[in-house]
Amino acid sequence: MMRQYELVERVKRYNPSADEALLNRAYVYAMMAHGNQKRASGDLFFGHPLEVAAILTDLKLDDATIAAAVLHDTVEDTQATLEEINKTFGPQIGALVDGLTKIKRLDLVSKRAAQGENFRKLLLAVADDVRVLLVKLADRLHNMRTLQFMPPEKRKRIAEETLDIYAPLAGRMGIQEMREELEELSFQNLDPEAYEAIRRHLHELSAKNEKLVDEIEKTLTTKLRAQGIEATVTGRQKRPYSIWRKMERKSVSFEQLSDIFAFRIIVNTIDECYRALGVVHTSWPMVPGRYKDYISTPKQNDYRSIHTTVIGPGSQRVELQIRTVDMDEVAEYGIAAHALYKEGVNDNSRLAMESRAYQWLRRTIDLLAEGDNPEEFLEHTKLELFHDQVFCFTPKGRLIALPRGATPIDFAYAVHTDVGNTAVGCKINGRMSPLLTELQNGDEVEIVRAEGQTPPAAWESLVVTGKARASIRRATRAAVRRQYTGLGHQILERAFERAGRPFSDEKLKGALPRLARVSVEDVLAAVGRGEMFSGDVVRAVYPDYLEERRGVSDGKGGGQPDGAGKKAASEHPGGIPIRGLNKDMPIRFAPEGGAVPGDRIVGILTPGQGVTIYPIQSPSLAAFDNEPDRWIDVRWDLESGSTQRFPARIKLQSINEPGSLAQITQVIADHDGNIDNVSMKRRTQDFTDMTIDLTVWDLKHLNAIIAELRAKRVVSRVDRITG
Ligand code: MN
Repeated sequence: MMRQYELVERVKRYNPSADEALLNRAYVYAMMAHGNQKRASGDLFFGHPLEVAAILTDLKLDDATIAAAVLHDTVEDTQATLEEINKTFGPQIGALVDGLTKIKRLDLVSKRAAQGENFRKLLLAVADDVRVLLVKLADRLHNMRTLQFMPPEKRKRIAEETLDIYAPLAGRMGIQEMREELEELSFQNLDPEAYEAIRRHLHELSAKNEKLVDEIEKTLTTKLRAQGIEATVTGRQKRPYSIWRKMERKSVSFEQLSDIFAFRIIVNTIDECYRALGVVHTSWPMVPGRYKDYISTPKQNDYRSIHTTVIGPGSQRVELQIRTVDMDEVAEYGIAAHALYKEGVNDNSRLAMESRAYQWLRRTIDLLAEGDNPEEFLEHTKLELFHDQVFCFTPKGRLIALPRGATPIDFAYAVHTDVGNTAVGCKINGRMSPLLTELQNGDEVEIVRAEGQTPPAAWESLVVTGKARASIRRATRAAVRRQYTGLGHQILERAFERAGRPFSDEKLKGALPRLARVSVEDVLAAVGRGEMFSGDVVRAVYPDYLEERRGVSDGKGGGQPDGAGKKAASEHPGGIPIRGLNKDMPIRFAPEGGAVPGDRIVGILTPGQGVTIYPIQSPSLAAFDNEPDRWIDVRWDLESGSTQRFPARIKLQSINEPGSLAQITQVIADHDGNIDNVSMKRRTQDFTDMTIDLTVWDLKHLNAIIAELRAKRVVSRVDRITG
């Protein structure tokens, strides 16, 4: 295990003014915190953070990063707390350790590897500081170097995750050496036999071809320069992992895959690409069938380059890629980089931004490596990558990327429209939480669903994703339409019954042209909304029918429908059994909660409109206190055993838990109440306020329903509302 003075010396070698005291304190603190903890290898755990720190000294990082590396597992794995780290080492190192602790927790939820790119973004979003990522990569590298002590299953999972997430991240950050080591170690663990076979072959070949890479590099550069082509030539013997990938892709054996040297010639212009190709082909014989011109015919993914293979010095096959600087960017960063060169292409702006983010990251790390004063540079370099996004997981580990500010409702719709439409609650990280919680990076979200649910219209203004908003609008429109259709059906049934004529959808269909509607549903909804009068429908179906007027005009040349409030008037034409009024006086119930038989009632006259019936306790009556002329004495005129229903309104507060709405509507249904409308006005963390419009026989019936509702555990409060 590395000694205390060895760590200090390593840092001092590249940074003579390093804070020795800080490094010493971190060393001692972590050593005490980890105590006798052992790794799977049987070694003391403390050796691990020290090795991680050592890897980072190779990258010549600042004191704070080295100290954070030494401390990186203390908060998650020992008794140490973040407060203590903050107090002992200051807020800067505290923030680094905090970032590492958060990422470590994310590792636990990243169950599925198929989402590499999103997970990498999540890492970038969580890490506020590029140093957190560097420590994380070093941590993973050391874990990969010591993976052989892990059980096989775990080894496979970690190696896969490394290949999918951490190796590409290192590559994107421009630390190619680390990327390659991570890839090689992953390959070695995933397929030890293939790795060993390829390594052995490579070893034999490279023994024969020592110095070949240097030789080809020099020759190429000289020959190109002689033709006036300024080129960057890089070459190397391929690593087992990249050979293996090629073997997998082309399903060829190692013997067939003889080009183990790969060179890249980067020039400035397309013209130079072809001139460089000429130089290559006139210097060495080309291998037939290996020449590909992806510049004149780019690949599907916009990759452009010239590929060729020649028989080089020592009769060794050498693979060459020739391309411009721009093409190389695309090859390295993928299509995203391409967008940068197509200014003004809006669709690609997000991709371009991501590509820029990685480029920025890479430049930052380049600067780090050269840096005169890395300390100061890093302190003022905050990562703000993908901060406009938040990344969450489904219980199965699927990663869902959402805009910042998104709620579990957005999450539910992002998973599937059906999930959103039936969402009634959620668990965040295993705990029941309000659906309006703002999601945080790494949250695991489980949506609780109830079939037959309709999303409250109010959600539309509370969500941040377009998909959720559009789906909610569609669902609430459909639900409202269903309500009106149902109501229209009831109204028509009764109207036909009163007219003494049979009613059926079939008969209604025949009358559609006369009603100027295209479907039965349209007619039902129009009647339900009060846009069409039931009497008109009856007459359209039975043109011979002459309505016997029973006291109240049924809209024939009468009052204009003005929405839900007047529904009562058109719905109960002449049907409101009230004494004390002229026969042809239009009557309606107070729209915000009407009277039911058993209530003491009063009528309020509005000239030109008719009489509105209020229960005597209605608060609205106060408005008419100074207009005694408008008050009309009325009383119920109801035969016993009447089956007529009357509208009432109740207000109810329920505990916010799945299925509560279902329980409430069940109580009302069980007691033979008819629900006309339910609206949820406000949702707090714990409670939902609902207003329910229902129809009942009379006051006794209504009171019985209210009593039953009050007895329900999910109901915290019920009040009758009288308009
Ligand atoms: Mn670690």
